Amino acid sequence: MNGRDFSRFRRLVVKVGSSSITHTDGQVHWQKMEHLTRQIADLVHAGREVVLVSSGAVAAGLAPLGFREKPARLEDKQAAAAVGQGILIHRYEKLFRESGIPVGQVLLTRGDYLHPRRYVNARETLQRLLQLGAVPVVNENDTVATDELKVGDNDTLSAMVASIIDADCLLILSDVDGLYTANPQRDPAARLISRVDKITPAMYAAAQGVGSARGTGGMTTKLQAAEICVHSGVHMLIAKADTEHILTRLAAGEEVGTWFVARDVHPQMRKRKLLFGAAMKGKIYVDDGCCAAVLESGSSILPVGIREVEGEFVGGDGVSVYHGKEEIARGIVAFDSAELRRICGVHTADLAAVLGYEPEHNAAVHRNYLVVKS
Ligand code: GLU
Repeated sequence: MNGRDFSRFRRLVVKVGSSSITHTDGQVHWQKMEHLTRQIADLVHAGREVVLVSSGAVAAGLAPLGFREKPARLEDKQAAAAVGQGILIHRYEKLFRESGIPVGQVLLTRGDYLHPRRYVNARETLQRLLQLGAVPVVNENDTVATDELKVGDNDTLSAMVASIIDADCLLILSDVDGLYTANPQRDPAARLISRVDKITPAMYAAAQGVGSARGTGGMTTKLQAAEICVHSGVHMLIAKADTEHILTRLAAGEEVGTWFVARDVHPQMRKRKLLFGAAMKGKIYVDDGCCAAVLESGSSILPVGIREVEGEFVGGDGVSVYHGKEEIARGIVAFDSAELRRICGVHTADLAAVLGYEPEHNAAVHRNYLVVKS
């Protein structure tokens, strides 16, 4: 793509850092928050879908709990996040309500990106919120996330969200203008890079030490986020949050900030990464007809084509699909193993009678969640 053709972008993730919506002492900066939400509301009213990833929970929770600065102890930070997240969402809810837009609070951790079942859950919920006209407001679930579970910074989290929902573009609004050729705080000759087609080690070197006082990330986490985005087929842009009407101007095609151009990624590749990196919970053996339909036409797997089910799993788990001794595909299953055993070989029309209820999906593994092994 040449230039920044925003008109094509329908689904956006906007990430805003703590320093862009709080004062230096951590108090929420209502005016900045209002400016941001008004612009998002205009984008939504103009027909775009927007997910907002907002930091600031820890910062907003400091003063109410009597902390003068960001505490070092994990429990203190988690306590501050618990209080601050409520403050943030209350304010976002109020501001978006004035524009007639409902908000949905979504708190995620690393596991929601790594485990197929949780990935699908997060994806479906976020997509449903968007379909229903809401703005999902996402943050890390700081209160329960321990080190192993934590994403740790919202640059990376927002890139994960953009990848989960197949966004067209992630906009990172920060306290820097974008990516520079060198650290602009130290090198007066540093120039803003307006377009990045390839992320290089030199960029990481220049990014070192460029960070903000209140936020968690710096330029390094932004480059890491860009790697996730561009490899997931999502464009990414870094721009300064304080710039007047920044979102409106970007949407109008103005060239501000740094643009990371997405790679052309086939959706199959994303599913492949998801399923071939994860542990499968069981096996389903399919008959000749089903095998041919999967391999030749990329069809969903219907219960009628299943011969046998091995292992214990629940709907949403990853399963391997076998034809005889050969693994032919992997997918995310819609039924629990016990249910699936009861409906092996059963025609779609008879599923309700055998199960005793009308299943939500007829397919045992829907084609959208099925990847053929190459
Ligand atoms: N989740 C953290 C918060 O809301 C922010 C993490 C970050 O600044 O990247 O305070």
